[in-house]
Amino acid sequence: MRVTLIKPNIGRREHSLYVDEARMEPLMLGVLAGLTPPDVDVVMHDDRMEQIPYDDATDLVAITVETYTARRSYEIADEYRKRGVPVILGGMHVTLLPDECVDHADSIFLGDAETLWSQVVDDARNGRLRERYDGPPGVGQIGGALPRREIFEGKGYLPMALMQYSRGCRFACSFCAVSQYFDKKHYIRRIDEVLHEIESQKRKFIFFVDDNIGSDRKALKELCRELIPMKVRWFSQASLDLTREPEIMRLMADSGNVGNVTGFESITHASLKESKKSPNIGQFSNYEREIKVLREYGMQTWAAFTLGYDNDTYDSIMATMEFALKSRFTFAAFNILMPYPNTPLYRKLEEQGRLLFDGKWWLHPEYRFNQAAFAPVRLTADELTDACHEARKRFNNVSSLFYRFSDIKTNLKTLWSVAAYWRYTTLFRKEVYKKHLMRFGLD
Ligand code: SF4
Repeated sequence: MRVTLIKPNIGRREHSLYVDEARMEPLMLGVLAGLTPPDVDVVMHDDRMEQIPYDDATDLVAITVETYTARRSYEIADEYRKRGVPVILGGMHVTLLPDECVDHADSIFLGDAETLWSQVVDDARNGRLRERYDGPPGVGQIGGALPRREIFEGKGYLPMALMQYSRGCRFACSFCAVSQYFDKKHYIRRIDEVLHEIESQKRKFIFFVDDNIGSDRKALKELCRELIPMKVRWFSQASLDLTREPEIMRLMADSGNVGNVTGFESITHASLKESKKSPNIGQFSNYEREIKVLREYGMQTWAAFTLGYDNDTYDSIMATMEFALKSRFTFAAFNILMPYPNTPLYRKLEEQGRLLFDGKWWLHPEYRFNQAAFAPVRLTADELTDACHEARKRFNNVSSLFYRFSDIKTNLKTLWSVAAYWRYTTLFRKEVYKKHLMRFGLD
């Protein structure tokens, strides 16, 4: 039996294919391969850089669907189904919107794969695939399952190993699909299994893809203590409240943490309240104290902002960009607030009649990447789209790149941080421009 795993792309640029040059290993497909019985042949195709060989023989196709890739995922699923190959769709978008996905699949998988994937493969092998499987969200890679990393080989992924220590987050930010999916719960893997996974592969630079690795501080401290003797470098996604605990900051730095992706979201208290961004609100100090701590520990911060709150204007968006520049963040993302399906933000905008693109921007043929998908209060949707892109352009121009680089405590701290700064900021800067206004899907 052969199972084919697919990582879909978002779509294409107006006149050419889009190849994602900043692509990371699709960890969840490696995990899925690891959960597949060993007598089954597994192949993986990554639509971000290779053509999908629809006519290659296979017995089951599994596609991981995110909201941004839903339109392209359905195109791929339809191609396989035209050829009589059964398709199962899984991933966060399927769990958030199962009714939409059923039209493009023989089977859908809601929740996490760990408990039921071998059953799916068995059912497919015996020609009795069920229409729907419900796996509970929970601890990743239970039983010590290791990803089959050989399926990543030769596909040009960034030179870092993706791993997961935990899933979910205890916070409840109104725009966050993760919080919705995991119902504000946080699930942590056994630490010995994580350490074994680190030892089982050769990379020394690790990206823990946890939704918020700081959601459980005790668990994070345990991980840091175990990582110290392993002499790895790592980064992850972490909420800003961690900066209030010196012990944790010390442990993170000592264990090789080089920085994190952190959601600053907004520089105004009113917008943080609107988004229910509680890890940023406590003792709000315009982030002066938090940034001082991050610099003290030499961390290269990738700041994420969400823009388009009810109080946002062109001036507040430019002030956000100036703040990010002044803070000399290694990188900053100026994301438009996106109404992900089934989130509190989506429901609020729907009730207020403010959703654009028929409320389904991810499927709408006119929607383009980076466009506002709702009507803001103090700007038009187009003004919001343009202001965010202007912020990206100003933050990423050449003089800004050198200005941010000049931070001796972070980007100039070691030879490694200098190399990482230039390698990744230039790469992601390029992707920001390439992806702007990209079409979703290929048709
Ligand atoms: S802190 Fe991050 S992961 Fe947690 S709910 Fe907020 S946005 Fe989501």
